[in-house]
Amino acid sequence: MPWINGEDCDCCGICVDECPVDKIVMKDEEAEINMDGCIRCGVCHDICPQDAVRHDGEKTTERIDSNVETTKRYMELCAKYLGDEKEKLKCLNRMIKHFTNQKIIAEKTRGILEKLKKEI
Ligand code: SF4
Ligand code: SF4
Repeated sequence: MPWINGEDCDCCGICVDECPVDKIVMKDEEAEINMDGCIRCGVCHDICPQDAVRHDGEKTTERIDSNVETTKRYMELCAKYLGDEKEKLKCLNRMIKHFTNQKIIAEKTRGILEKLKKEI
């Protein structure tokens, strides 16, 4: 999924004009993508003269850090609201199961999508 690095965007508006589904707007002096309506066509990425439109993969580290921080927060909250420090470990195990399930879903989805190539 594309995203726009505001630090590199110079507000030229080219991507706003070229997005085929009109899902990029100028906001607070930088372009912003409405991900709900984006069809992942890649036009904005290819057309930006400032290379401000980036790929999802560039946020991998950030997203991992966010997952870890979220897990730590849930662990603290479980211990606090259930009144027992042992709840931290139970919560941690639940989050590990959650991300394991996410991995299985991603791998199976990828396998099915690879097979779709043969139908095109
Ligand atoms: S084309 Fe690039 S620099 Fe121009 S508004 Fe879009 S993101 Fe910003
Ligand atoms: S990927 Fe395509 S649909 Fe999505 S914001 Fe960019 S130009 Fe618009």
